[in-house]
Amino acid sequence: MTFDSSFSPLEPSVRRRFNCRCGKPVFFRNSLCIACGTALGFDPVRGDILSLAPGAEEGTWIEDGAAGPSPEVYRRCANFDTAASCNWLLPQSPEHVARDVSGTPLQQRTLCIACALNRQIPDLSNAVHAAQWGKIEMAKRRLVSALLAMGLPVDSRLDQDPQRGVAFDFMSDLNGQPRVLTGHADGLVTLNIEEADDVKREKARAAMHEPYRTLLGHLRHEIGHYYWDRLVAGSDWLEDYRSLFGDERADYAAALQTHYAQGPAPDWPLHYVSAYASTHPWEDWAETWAHYLHMVDTFDTAMSFGLSMEESDIEYEPFTADMLYRPEAADAPAFLEFLNSWTRLSGVLNEISRSMGTPDFYPFVLPIEVVRKLQFVHLLVQSARVVARQPGTPLDTASESVTPPPPPSASPDASAQPVPETTGG
Ligand SMILES: [Zn+2]
Ligand SMILES: [Zn+2]
Ligand SMILES: [Zn+2]
Repeated sequence: MTFDSSFSPLEPSVRRRFNCRCGKPVFFRNSLCIACGTALGFDPVRGDILSLAPGAEEGTWIEDGAAGPSPEVYRRCANFDTAASCNWLLPQSPEHVARDVSGTPLQQRTLCIACALNRQIPDLSNAVHAAQWGKIEMAKRRLVSALLAMGLPVDSRLDQDPQRGVAFDFMSDLNGQPRVLTGHADGLVTLNIEEADDVKREKARAAMHEPYRTLLGHLRHEIGHYYWDRLVAGSDWLEDYRSLFGDERADYAAALQTHYAQGPAPDWPLHYVSAYASTHPWEDWAETWAHYLHMVDTFDTAMSFGLSMEESDIEYEPFTADMLYRPEAADAPAFLEFLNSWTRLSGVLNEISRSMGTPDFYPFVLPIEVVRKLQFVHLLVQSARVVARQPGTPLDTASESVTPPPPPSASPDASAQPVPETTGG
């Protein structure tokens, strides 16, 4: 199966349906087919779960049944046998091995493209912390696989790109030390691993009146701050960003303080996707970005499994072109169809949740202002795909990308990000 390189919100660009060589369904997190015992691994280049057979050399693998004289050789991520249970593979061929900014292949890498982003992980001799880290890595792999599928740059700040790359610190509170604050600063995403404790996370969610709080949500939000630095700051997109999200030069610390002291303005649902988004243009960006990733991944999952909304008996007043930020964009009709299909899908899923007695699957409403912001994120992602395409990155075939009105530019990272925050997601 080939990886779909023509990203469109209406096509499964983040494929989530996989089959073992025996034909049985297998899932993104699997490293073994329970039906036939075949070893499985995720190839981040192809975005596919592969059925594996042992390679010629100890510790190597090839795709089971791979044809041709020199099939791709893989190694498993060194985090396979850890609490992370990482099922990702490292392709060994020169054209697929990870490279640093100078183009030098990182032959000695033992961690997959997702795990190679980790700067700090918890002390794994603590079983509770190890288990929490395992949950975080599972969420992170889902995040990273979507970023790769969308063609966004995913470079480790540690061994690939010290200037523009990204890295993660997963840390626990230590006695006598300041509390670990979840946030992003200068390409470093920090997550307090306590967020993987269901009781504590749910308590925090209720205390902050959030409708939704998950590990994946945190990671999507924080990586949004990173991509703002990388793709928006100092770029030709900045002006339009400010017209949609507001001026990010507003005092961030003061804005947070006001938010926590007074709460959000009562009319926030007319302008923002969440109450937290109303604190500051940076948070609005990160929340909207996270939301775009929620929608694309979930929608693509539904599409992967053939769930079509065309037949569904649920009708909403559809979003129309006049509600968009750039109605003239080439794929604006497709984007609208995506939004309208999403509304129907999430409406059905909410009702299914209620039938099951669980919280709503999608506890959000999209006002028109958020629709505009989502299309801005969408067009930026489309343009970043082009910028990101280089040898060795997952999408190296030409795809037809939109050319949005603001010309895309590979901006150097401009501003530093603000102080870490205590919430997000
Ligand atoms: Zn099987
Ligand atoms: Zn890994
Ligand atoms: Zn944030």
